[in-house]
Amino acid sequence: MTLTTWAGNLTYHHDRLHRPSTVDELQELVARSRRIRALGTRHSFNHLADTEHDLVQLHGLPAEVVIDPDARTATVSAGARYGTVAEELHRQGWALHNLASLPHISVGGAVSTGTHGSGSANLSSAVAGLDLVAADGGLRSLRRGDDELAGSVVGLGALGVVARVVLDIEPTYDVAQEVHLDLPWEAVLSDLDAVTGSADSVSLFTDWTGPAVQQVWRKTRLPRGGTYRPRADLFGARPAPGPVHPLPGIDPVNCTEQLGVPGPWHDRLPHFRLAFTPSNGDELQSEYLVPREHAVAAIEEMRSLGSLVAPLLQVSEVRTVSADDLWLSSAYGGDRVGLHLTWQSRQPEVESVLPAIEAALYPLGARPHWGKLFHAVDGAASWERWRDFQDLVQRSDPDRKFGNRFLEEAGVYHRAAR
Ligand SMILES: Cc1cc2nc3c(=O)[nH]c(=O)nc-3n(C[C@H](O)[C@H](O)[C@H](O)COP(=O)(O)OP(=O)(O)OC[C@H]3O[C@@H](n4cnc5c(N)ncnc54)[C@H](O)[C@@H]3O)c2cc1C
Repeated sequence: MTLTTWAGNLTYHHDRLHRPSTVDELQELVARSRRIRALGTRHSFNHLADTEHDLVQLHGLPAEVVIDPDARTATVSAGARYGTVAEELHRQGWALHNLASLPHISVGGAVSTGTHGSGSANLSSAVAGLDLVAADGGLRSLRRGDDELAGSVVGLGALGVVARVVLDIEPTYDVAQEVHLDLPWEAVLSDLDAVTGSADSVSLFTDWTGPAVQQVWRKTRLPRGGTYRPRADLFGARPAPGPVHPLPGIDPVNCTEQLGVPGPWHDRLPHFRLAFTPSNGDELQSEYLVPREHAVAAIEEMRSLGSLVAPLLQVSEVRTVSADDLWLSSAYGGDRVGLHLTWQSRQPEVESVLPAIEAALYPLGARPHWGKLFHAVDGAASWERWRDFQDLVQRSDPDRKFGNRFLEEAGVYHRAAR
């Protein structure tokens, strides 16, 4: 049966698809496979997960959420979806620091690509440990404090198959979400920190044209049962009169609750509800994360490309991501601002404009999102720990059992002279 990415834009070339039901079975599978790649929920838009050999999905592994209240961690199966883990954590009185816009993605796939929300660090930064099935089928437990953990979390599937992830947790909390319309660009550009700091998570939705950002989604953390007073004015933007979808004219039924009504963190931090499919997958995505100090210049570059990108866009989203120390994270070493583009499903045309976007943003230090469409990546120029990652991959998987063409083209296996 043909297996495609969630967006349906790419077909996986695998020979066999495996769904082990225990970690032992997974270990045996990896040990006997010649080449194998882990596959999460297929929400990436490029060939990162692809292989011509074995693909393995982990939804069949026990869906455990094992909480250690003293260590404030939860150990979860890498194949579990964030939304399912979040519901169980909340039921037991716990929470994660952040979530992505979509709760349907797998924990293993999300942390392997440096997936993020807005207003705090990448989801991967909450990883306190990994249980990783290595090339020989052995189970390696990496924990915070081990040298290799920071290199292995955003691992692109190149270091092995992650069976379990240990996540930092905190006591559960509420969030109130409200949306404002038509925020003048002038207000954004004159004080970006004031706008993005006006709530715990802020997303600016735009098509890069016109004098104003169309929608501002703001999520504010509250103690359990706390109250929230919606904000009448937001730097010249007005409150949305009712719930909205980020895409103009689309029914907001699948969006999380808005209008400042407080509710559990996992029902507000994502933009979309777990119980609904956010769309038919009729979209493509790209994202570039620029150093915070160059964010205003990068936004200005994108606005100057507005007439090129807008005809292909559904919408763009600007978010903030705090610094972390994960080697291949988009926010390694400093705070970043993510310039995300949800494209119409017109891949050849989208791919034809990516070089212009990269020519504008790469000189500002932008890094592409590993799970989305990009034209080119220069790992060594973009990530300070790139060569350390190459060394780690070489040590962990010298025969490239977890390799694929995407990783080769990205230069993961290229050993430049040191
Ligand atoms: C509608 C939509 C909304 C999105 N919103 C956001 C967002 O808000 N923020 C953001 O940053 N990104 C977002 N993304 C991108 C998405 O989070 C990433 O592409 C993420 O990798 C998807 O996880 P997945 O489980 O589908 O991974 P897959 O696409 O299945 O795999 C991605 C990579 O992870 C590896 N992998 C998967 N599981 C494992 C494992 N167990 N062990 C080792 N490697 C593994 C694969 O080999 C592959 O290299 C969104 C995508 C969609 C479709």
